[in-house]
Amino acid sequence: MALANSVVHIDVSAALTALEPPGLDQYCIAFGPGATQFCATPNGYSTTHLPRKVVKDLLGGQIKKVLHASFGSDDDSFLFTYQMKDGSVAHRAGRDLPKALRSFVDRVSATSEESASSLRVQLGANRSYVAWSGLLWVAKRIPKELRTALFNISSADFDEANGSPGVLKSGTLDNIAWHDNGSWYVKNGHDHSNNLMDRGAGVIRGAWKDLWDNMSSQELLLPHCYAKLAYVAINPHSHTGGTFAFFKKTKDAHEADFILRFEPEDVVSRLRKKQYPLQEMRQEGASHTSGQVVNVPKNAEGLQVFKWAISKHTGRSHARDSWELDLKKGERVKILKDMGNDWFLVENRRGENGWVHKAWLDSQQMVPHIDPRQAYARFTVDVEKMLKAGDIRSFPDLSRYMNACTKDACNPLKKGTRCLGICIHDLHELMCGSGEYTLDTLKTERYKWHPDKFARYCHPDHREILREKAQALFVLFGVLMDILENPRAPQPAA
Ligand SMILES: [Zn+2]
Repeated sequence: MALANSVVHIDVSAALTALEPPGLDQYCIAFGPGATQFCATPNGYSTTHLPRKVVKDLLGGQIKKVLHASFGSDDDSFLFTYQMKDGSVAHRAGRDLPKALRSFVDRVSATSEESASSLRVQLGANRSYVAWSGLLWVAKRIPKELRTALFNISSADFDEANGSPGVLKSGTLDNIAWHDNGSWYVKNGHDHSNNLMDRGAGVIRGAWKDLWDNMSSQELLLPHCYAKLAYVAINPHSHTGGTFAFFKKTKDAHEADFILRFEPEDVVSRLRKKQYPLQEMRQEGASHTSGQVVNVPKNAEGLQVFKWAISKHTGRSHARDSWELDLKKGERVKILKDMGNDWFLVENRRGENGWVHKAWLDSQQMVPHIDPRQAYARFTVDVEKMLKAGDIRSFPDLSRYMNACTKDACNPLKKGTRCLGICIHDLHELMCGSGEYTLDTLKTERYKWHPDKFARYCHPDHREILREKAQALFVLFGVLMDILENPRAPQPAA
């Protein structure tokens, strides 16, 4: 640490205070080996050790603000980018930058003022680095997955051996971070990619999940989620890989949410709950489907209520977005949750779920109702109990189990004292909840309501009226059986 010794007594804090702080949602946190650190946030700058040349620059009084900083694994391996008071952009590089990086820096700086001012360098451990300027980038010794991610956003092949740079398809690399343990993050324009949910130190994974309040990685892919993210830093020089900082953008004039850990300190965070539309999904009673945690509205009896819709098209609204559910035209799906911005989380008949845009869906003539599987389970348990107890004095209120159909024609059939409370469409929906909508299932169910058999369980005072209702239900089951046996008969609304 020879370079630090000569400057340790020079107080740069006054010089840092005199600088213009980064703008709203602008950050740079540079970790170096040992205790070396430089932080730039909208609230100002702070530092522990700084290279002598950088201290000299700061004391020189010509710097307006520090745009970027990064420390490599060697003592004199660093690169600082300044915005000068005269409007120009300047770099201060350490002598020990890796040779290939040095030549990229020199080449870019010589090309044009524009490419020089857009030059940024992110250094890592073990002499690893990514450097970029405009669309061009070079990298060395970075995790394989991060390299692949860079290739995925590039149009031309990057060849490390002959030093030819990669060429981004668009934008610039706005934010990049990694650790040798394999965790990484990269932002290119509006696109964010990372493996922080799956790889790296456990403390990073935990913090990343906390930051997003335990949303799944699939949910996170939704554009409006990552649009909330301002900055990600990972200390590449930490032995554990557990030093990091995640900042969200400021919202409604509140201070930005963040979660960070500077080893050996504990994790520090300021995470406002209820900030994100997806937040409310993680409430008690959430149902787990395909690895996602989803909370859906409940009715007065505590059963989950769903809306239904029909897909207007086949495929996905964005063919390449795997978080969207692949649909078939005419397929009926269950809307699990309104995610805001015209997006819905839906589930198909096979229990697969994903995101679907409103434009893709045709809302059905069905009112929200509970999951047919739950309804059917409750229905069979209740009927069994009722028959076992005997002495039945009133007919079960079938609309309690299923009341989905809103067809005008069915309305009079469902209301009135002598009616069952449900129509053929409701009964079809309820029986779909058995999971086995077959002739056998319908036959078994129908048998329970055979009027002569059912009458035996009824109290003598009510027997005749109850027999009539059982008869009506028996007939409805018969209609469903007819439809199933003869597909050309009119179908209940799917
Ligand atoms: Zn109906």
